[in-house]
Amino acid sequence: MSDPSLLVSNPSRTDPSVAPTGKQTYYVLAPVPNLTAPIDWARTGKRYADEILVELEKRGYPGLTDATEVRHLVTPDDWAAAGMAMGTPFALAHTFAQTGPMRPSNLLMENVVFVGSGTQPGVGVPMVLVSGRLAAERIIGR
Ligand SMILES: Cc1cc2nc3c(=O)[nH]c(=O)nc-3n(C[C@H](O)[C@H](O)[C@H](O)COP(=O)(O)OP(=O)(O)OC[C@H]3O[C@@H](n4cnc5c(N)ncnc54)[C@H](O)[C@@H]3O)c2cc1C
Repeated sequence: MSDPSLLVSNPSRTDPSVAPTGKQTYYVLAPVPNLTAPIDWARTGKRYADEILVELEKRGYPGLTDATEVRHLVTPDDWAAAGMAMGTPFALAHTFAQTGPMRPSNLLMENVVFVGSGTQPGVGVPMVLVSGRLAAERIIGR
């Protein structure tokens, strides 16, 4: 991607126990397609990660590439190996037709209530909390 949205978190800033003394831990989440795209992640993953470090240097983390001592890369191949369809950990895509009330219902069978990102209303912690509330309401009959 030429201009990716990147999520960066620095957990060692508030919890020094997640990095060696005097060091920092960073987590970077970058958007990629799922495995329906013909991408050789064994080859492209490392290159894309290198590009992301360069991009982060431009966006306010100068020297990040050279300062990195240990790197752990997770690609769609890894998610697929963990059993996730199409190598995506995000359940159904958040397209308009698969979001909110259009997502699969949490009550598809009698006495079985679904909850979480694969059902209504969608992906992400706030959505999943709403899903939990909807599931509880189904159970108590609201
Ligand atoms: C890399 C990444 C970054 C993300 N970043 C954000 C973010 O910044 N903000 C945000 O809001 N959302 C984010 N999300 C999305 C969010 O994490 C998910 O939408 C949410 O956690 C889904 O909740 P869930 O309860 O449906 O599933 P999960 O959180 O996946 O919980 C399912 C649980 O069920 C357990 N389980 C599976 N099978 C079994 C079994 N057979 N028996 C018993 N237990 C089982 C699993 O171990 C797991 O603990 C991110 C997701 C990923 C993958």
